[in-house]
Amino acid sequence: MLEITPIPAFEDNYIWALINRDAGTAVVVDPGDASPVEAFLTKERLTLSGILITHHHGDHVGGVAALRANRDIPVFGPANEAIDLLTHRVGDGDCHMLPGEFSCSFSVIDVPGHTAGHIAYLVEDHLFCGDTLFVMGCGRLFEGTPAQLHASLQRIASLPATTQLFCAHEYTLSNLKFALTVEPSNEALQRRAFAVTETRASGLPTVPTTVAEELETNPYLRCHSSEILASAERFAGSPLATEVDVFAALRRWKNEFR
Ligand code: ZN
Ligand code: FE
Repeated sequence: MLEITPIPAFEDNYIWALINRDAGTAVVVDPGDASPVEAFLTKERLTLSGILITHHHGDHVGGVAALRANRDIPVFGPANEAIDLLTHRVGDGDCHMLPGEFSCSFSVIDVPGHTAGHIAYLVEDHLFCGDTLFVMGCGRLFEGTPAQLHASLQRIASLPATTQLFCAHEYTLSNLKFALTVEPSNEALQRRAFAVTETRASGLPTVPTTVAEELETNPYLRCHSSEILASAERFAGSPLATEVDVFAALRRWKNEFR
């Protein structure tokens, strides 16, 4: 049985741990900081058996060197990004067994946009998507084009509706505020607002989310909505011809939204 749990790091990062209790092993995704991972492994009496990296940003790779220092474990990461200490450079369609006597494998999906070589890892029906999609939100465009990130999000949205999405940050309340601004009459969004506000008030993570929930509430997956089109055109001050244009306007708007 695969067990998944977040290890909180920095202000709002989640380092996801995939745990095999029978073997006493764990794989971590995007360890930006080694110390919370070491504390977690000690407390849970687990041996680190591998590391998965989604993209090159420091808050996702910063702990790799320290975690690798006294361990001979595989470090998987994007083939198209310059990251030190990777042992396996992987890209779209690649498939490997999860190291640590897990009975499941992971496959890789290219999701460029936040960074040029960003990848996501699919383990059964769990997707570790780094900074590509957040609950009711998406990553900033640092290296890619709006069309690229839009296509990457569409690819995630086309996974089965029950797929669980494990993002690398807790940005939900800020994303919620923006989502309610651009699509105020979305009833699913209004219902979700109550749910996630309560979850955060209890200090619990709102991640993972699911493809089904994001299709109903994530504005970046809803560029076809007439209300979102109208909002985005109001922000842009001109008509927007395509869904990518709507997406690009939403992403620009969110950058300056408070
Ligand atoms: Zn990032
Ligand atoms: Fe990040």
